[in-house]
Amino acid sequence: MKIIMLGAPGAGKGTQAKKIAEKYGIPHISTGDIFRANIKNETELGKKAKEYMDQGLLVPDELTCDLVTDRIKNDDCKNGFILDGFPRTIPQAEALTKALEKMGQKMDFAIDVDVPDSAIIERMSGRRACLKCGATYHIVTIPPKQEGICDNCGAELVQRDDDKPETVQKRLTVYHDQTQPLIDYYKNEGILKTVDGTKDFEDVFTAITEILS
Ligand code: ADP
Ligand code: AMP
Repeated sequence: MKIIMLGAPGAGKGTQAKKIAEKYGIPHISTGDIFRANIKNETELGKKAKEYMDQGLLVPDELTCDLVTDRIKNDDCKNGFILDGFPRTIPQAEALTKALEKMGQKMDFAIDVDVPDSAIIERMSGRRACLKCGATYHIVTIPPKQEGICDNCGAELVQRDDDKPETVQKRLTVYHDQTQPLIDYYKNEGILKTVDGTKDFEDVFTAITEILS
């Protein structure tokens, strides 16, 4: 099963993608997580990506497409994978379609997690992330058992730099300009499904698994 999670930043793509990956035993590929790991490890890619991420801008396609098109050739992707945060531009979607065509494959589902901008601001301002294991929480809606501490690995939870209010608005504008057109792209491909992302985490998960089964 090959799945794309679409939706605004903060819509809940990562939260759902992790659970879907677990349920179906497929890898969860998040370009945001890949960039953050590179930043943490102070790689050349991390240094370049950080310049854009800190401003709420997209990392250029030429630094992003090969990361994913190479990753999906790995053996662990042979039964499928779930993409979270990629593609984010039409050229990225075209690069993905082309790479899959070369492998004689195509995506099965593009799931748009639909959340209005007003709710997105609340989601992103309350998001807390574990930089050690990648788990994500929300201080109100999905809190950790112990405040500020990751349930999975016990590391300290932090607010992402790009979740600060001044960056959130920019990221939303970028989403509407550059990423939202992908909804029509995947509608035309005949694989678009939309779920109401304003519902509780469990309800959104049920809606997605119903689509996938
Ligand atoms: P994305 O990957 O789309 O940027 P996340 O999965 O990180 O978004 O979710 C953004 C924030 O909203 C996180 O703090 C997360 O815990 C919270 N969240 C995710 N899904 C829901 C939901 N259905 N209801 C309430 N809060 C949610
Ligand atoms: P995310 O974790 O998906 O919210 O991504 C965090 C940031 O990483 C984004 O705001 C972008 O700056 C960058 N990023 C992640 N995925 C992509 C992508 N597919 N294309 C360009 N930039 C990306």
